[in-house]
This record gives sequence, C-alpha cells and structure tokens, in this order.
Amino acid sequence: AAKGNGRGRFRFYSSDLHQSAEDRRALEEDLRDALARGQMELTYQPVVNAKSNMVTGVEALLRWNHPDRGPISPALFIPIAEEANLIWPLGEWVLRKACEDAARWPGDLRVAVNVSAIQFANGDLPKIITSALSNAGLPADRLELEITESVFLADSSETARMFTALKALGVRLALDDFGTGYSSLGYLQSAPFDKIKIDQSFVRGATVKGSRNAAIIAAIVALAEALDMETTAEGIESLDQLDLIRKLNVSHVQGYVYSKPVANAELVEHTEGGAWTIKPSGPARQRND
Ligand code: C2E
Ligand code: MG
Ligand code: MG
Ligand code: MG
Repeated sequence: AAKGNGRGRFRFYSSDLHQSAEDRRALEEDLRDALARGQMELTYQPVVNAKSNMVTGVEALLRWNHPDRGPISPALFIPIAEEANLIWPLGEWVLRKACEDAARWPGDLRVAVNVSAIQFANGDLPKIITSALSNAGLPADRLELEITESVFLADSSETARMFTALKALGVRLALDDFGTGYSSLGYLQSAPFDKIKIDQSFVRGATVKGSRNAAIIAAIVALAEALDMETTAEGIESLDQLDLIRKLNVSHVQGYVYSKPVANAELVEHTEGGAWTIKPSGPARQRND
C-alpha cells in the first residue's frame, strides 16, 4: 500500500445508528457552517489497473473534520446533508475542488466524484459541472461521476434527460455500489455507463474460487464486458481477494490492499515522478484454491 497512507488517520466519530434526534440536530447545525469554516476536506483513493498495478484514477472521498468530534464519516453526514438541503452547496464544493485539484496533478489521472441521487435530480447539475470544469481547466473526460442505482427510482424521463445532458458534456459515468440497490437490469440497457463498480459486499465473502460471491462477480464482469464497460472491484483488503479478483478478470481495483484514501499533497508527491504504481500489500495469503 502507498506509504504513509495514514492507516487510522481518520478515526471516525461513532457511526452509530442509534443516533439520538438531538444529536442529529446538533450535527445538522454544525454542518451548516462546516464549509465556511474550512472543515471539509477531500481525500483521494487510488483506482488501480489490476494487471499492471498502475494507478489510472482516484475517487474523491469527502471528510468532515469536526472541531470537537474529530473526523465524521460521509456515511453519517451525507444523509443529514440531503435531508437538511445542504447537499447542494456541499456537492458543488466537492465538484469544484476535485476539478481544481485534478487539473494541477502532474499526470492525467482521472478523478471520480460521488453524486447523490438528490443532486442528480437537480436540473442545474450540468451547468455546475460545466462551470467547475472550465474554471479548473480540466478536460471533461478526466471527470467521472459516480452515481448509484437509487437515481432510477426518480421520474424516468427526467433521469433519461439528465443522462443525455451529462453524456453531452463528455464526462464519464460510473454505476456505484452495483448490485446492492434497486435491482433491475433494465437501466443498464439505456443508461450510458462507462464503468460498473462492484460493491464490496460481494467481495467480502469471495475468497474461495467457486463461491457464490465469485459466481456473482463473474456474472457482473461478463455483463460489463458485453456492454463495453469497465469494472472496478471496491473494498479489496487482502491479497487473497486481489488474487481472486484478478482471476475473475475485473479490470480495476480499489481498496486498502493498494491504498487508503490519501490527502491531496500526498497524491501529488506520488505522481511527481510520472506513472504511479503501487505494490499491493495486505493480510497474508491463504491458499485455498
Ligand atoms: P462509496 O462511493 O462506495 O465509497 C467507497 C467507500 O469504501 C469509502 O468510504 C472508502 O473509504 C471505503 N473503502 C475503500 N476501500 C476500502 C477497503 O478496502 N475496505 C473498507 N472496509 N472500506 C474501503 P467513505 O469514504 O467512508 O465513504 C462512504 C460513502 O459516502 C461513499 O461510498 C459515498 O457513497 C459517500 N460519499 C463519500 N464522499 C462523498 C461526496 O463527496 N459526495 C457524496 N454525495 N457522497 C459521498
Ligand atoms: Mg463511490
Ligand atoms: Mg461504492
Ligand atoms: Mg457505498
């Protein structure tokens, strides 16, 4: 894994699900000022070509450094931001910052940005993206938007219009957390995805070739290849998992086995010498196939 990648650097404020209503309100209040107070930070996790170990892009992952509570996970505060109508300013900041950072990186790494279904449903999204790209001077094909299946729960003609508008900008589209949401394959036929991200839940149990999860991953890879899409396996932690993922011909890998998310300054250090390759490292291999 990338050196100094800060294992344990982000010790998240308990992402406990039994958050009291009061606690949630307090967080919501703090969230209103978080951007203005400079408490938000983008970290970048390498997406690696599984065959060459070369980093082909990174995913921008948002961090909230809360002054009293410490780092708070986006899994906890993004839902609050969505409900409190704060996702729009937050999402716009993420897009602009990611494009600015990416335009300054030494190579031509792609940057992937998570876009929530609520942002996706807002007709202003293409305008914001155009503005973020041109202000930063970033070519559109270096920006990838990660969206989840939940966007297909909204009005289907609006959704189709948004896909058309985004494709017209020349940005890339990735389907995130594939297989965990609204389970219809119909949308793959019409939505113009460049990549499918295989959710970490499939990878978890997939250490033995021939397991059910391995069969599911193989099926997703076959589907993606037939539709001319790349695949990324998310959350690969061990060398065992990496070994299997390679055997299953998943094209790209993202996970602690290569690197945790890193700060922008660290990314710049790694890319200064040209191509960035990472030697995978993780829990010791157990031969079981
Ligand atoms: P996601 O887009 O599916 O991102 C992948 C998550 O898996 C990240 O969690 C990442 O840190 C984590 N991860 C990566 N490799 C490994 C691994 O090997 N093992 C394990 N256990 N986890 C790994 P993170 O950063 O906490 O983000 C959680 C979710 O929050 C993201 O899931 C995404 O849905 C959302 N999110 C993050 N940043 C943003 C943002 O800027 N905007 C929006 N709308 N959502 C965001
Ligand atoms: Mg994502
Ligand atoms: Mg995901
Ligand atoms: Mg996720």
